Amino acid sequence: MPHTLLLAEPRGFCAGVVRAIDVLDAVLDREPPPVYAFHEIVHNRHVVDSFRARGAVFVDALDAVPDGARIVFSAHGVAPAVVAEARARGLRIIDATCPLVTKVHLETRKAARDGFDILLVGHHGHDEVTGTLGEAPERTTIVDTAADVATLAPRERPVFVVTQTTLSVEDTAGVIDAIRARHPAAEVRNDICYATTNRQLAVRTIAQRADLVLVVGSANSSNSVRLREVAASTGTPAYRVDGIADIDPAWYAGVDTVGLTAGASVPDELLDPIIADLRARGVTRIEPVVVATETVTFQPPDGLE
Ligand code: SF4
Repeated sequence: MPHTLLLAEPRGFCAGVVRAIDVLDAVLDREPPPVYAFHEIVHNRHVVDSFRARGAVFVDALDAVPDGARIVFSAHGVAPAVVAEARARGLRIIDATCPLVTKVHLETRKAARDGFDILLVGHHGHDEVTGTLGEAPERTTIVDTAADVATLAPRERPVFVVTQTTLSVEDTAGVIDAIRARHPAAEVRNDICYATTNRQLAVRTIAQRADLVLVVGSANSSNSVRLREVAASTGTPAYRVDGIADIDPAWYAGVDTVGLTAGASVPDELLDPIIADLRARGVTRIEPVVVATETVTFQPPDGLE
């Protein structure tokens, strides 16, 4: 049974998630339900369910939103076509897109305007990638893995590279190396954000000392899924769970040191019952393992005075 718990720091909420949650929270405080949100406000089941209970309705298409209604765009951002449609329908927009995602949109838009072909390193179908792709769909190709690079058709224009913000730091370096090998003159923006980078460094650090790593986060949370992969890449068994209910106590057999972290969309309160349970099982030493101190905050968006 475990005796030591290593707590990764930083872990859990990032500045973009705090801002998006604060936005929807404030709108629900001020306006009668339903309040519509385009896509899940952040990729966490617990957060989304608690907003649903207060009258938030999460939609994946604007058809489901009545004309003139309030709509909040999620932290992952939306394509310009969605913004245009929302405006044309008279929807009252509040845009909770993380400013670091907006930066990727602006880079992509400018690169297209400047005559580049764009390679967007990211996962097909992820909300953020779909939004960024929408900035210049005719000029942009999604590249998921280093193996994808070999299958790309020759580019007619100079190449510009942008990335999803929540990718694996290590895997992305490999994809960018492969792109540079094929397109030595490519202009590369590695847009993996500070929160993703810090959480991956922290989970790698605890995984190197732990016998088991638990990552709290939902299956559709890219950064949570990456945290489990980073932990497992050290050779330590690692599981992603939505909360304590997903933990199989058999995982603790023969384990002395447990590492615990959470994705950027996960409230710290979801870790409390896991920590209490580990104490009850015999953990007497809880050690925060700090790899970075985060001080980033973002201003609220327009329309939310
Ligand atoms: Fe913004 Fe990074 Fe958080 Fe995504 S993970 S919301 S890009 S700070």
